[in-house]
Amino acid sequence: MAPMLTTGKLLGKIKIAGELYCQTGLHIGASQEVMEIGGVDSPVVRDPLTREPYIPGSSIKGKLRSLAEKKAFAGQEFSEKSIGEFFNKRVDKVRHHECNVPECHVCRLFGASSDGNIPQSRPARLYVEDAALKGESKELLEKIDTGLYLTELKFENTLDRLTSAATPRQLERVPRGSRFNFCFFYNLDEPLSAPLISSDLEEIFSLLQLLNDDFLGGSGSRGSGRVELQRLRVHYRPLSYYLPGRGAEKEETYVQGQDQGLGQFFAEVLVQLCGEGR
Ligand SMILES: [Zn+2]
Repeated sequence: MAPMLTTGKLLGKIKIAGELYCQTGLHIGASQEVMEIGGVDSPVVRDPLTREPYIPGSSIKGKLRSLAEKKAFAGQEFSEKSIGEFFNKRVDKVRHHECNVPECHVCRLFGASSDGNIPQSRPARLYVEDAALKGESKELLEKIDTGLYLTELKFENTLDRLTSAATPRQLERVPRGSRFNFCFFYNLDEPLSAPLISSDLEEIFSLLQLLNDDFLGGSGSRGSGRVELQRLRVHYRPLSYYLPGRGAEKEETYVQGQDQGLGQFFAEVLVQLCGEGR
């Protein structure tokens, strides 16, 4: 018998929202197909309607998943697998992890698709929305003249090792100091008091703390993409929240204090959401 990997239930949602503050310039590259003629070598992804740069949910989710997989591989809580056994799936040339272990946080949060080695597909419990540029950042960026709409051009050089001749290339970035609104939803398929739910939430919070010390997008090892998560809010919305006219009173909201670090905030939210008395 294959293990049950989902309850098939929906008991509510947890919304995690806040601001992504760019401590350095941020480059989330657009694919070659959408490159504009006469454009820069390496443009950023933009909303086709507003032309504003944004951070695709897939970029944030991909980063969180890769952090989760490396963390799980280091921990090897549920098995002792070699690197090739653990990162067992390959899409194009990219290797990653998927499995049917019921407790695996990676696959609980981000899902898995069935194949010869994985009997059952698993739904993702975590949804990550696209992060839009905040209005205040747009206003500030509109006032600076860089020759590009709301972005900057950074020149990087590759040096020939023998002649020291430089080969320049251009990287378009969202400037340091910009702010984006981010939002995640976690689907509850068991009560908050269930051990796997609290450990899922603990895992999400841990990944967000890791992201704070990691980078988003391209050229991370060369100074781009350092972000800081700020002004976090966590909302618990049981199904009764979604009954017409009942909403607000059924929601529990937790707001990060002004001088409260991420870790301290998340620890308090976990106690409130999943602690004794639930
Ligand atoms: Zn897994």
